[in-house]
Amino acid sequence: MPEKDAKAGEARAHIPIRTCLVCMRKRPRRELIRLVLEPGDTGRIVLDPKQAMTGRGGYTCPECIRNFRLNKRVQRAFRGAARELRLEMT
Ligand SMILES: [Zn+2]
Repeated sequence: MPEKDAKAGEARAHIPIRTCLVCMRKRPRRELIRLVLEPGDTGRIVLDPKQAMTGRGGYTCPECIRNFRLNKRVQRAFRGAARELRLEMT
């Protein structure tokens, strides 16, 4: 893939950038909280504190997580498979 000048700031640093599903701001992945569709076809979105779970994932800012809702944007990010939020920090 050719380097694009417009994106050089992101590309040069090799920091993975992800978009918050609540505010849509782009931020470095390590500043965001990863959410993942729980394995086992439960339809639950759960926290992935270690950012290590496999499966369909999404991201949100720490300050946005309390505003996280199962809206259309989130449904789309999880390919329509999300039916429930389980976001307790336990
Ligand atoms: Zn956010």
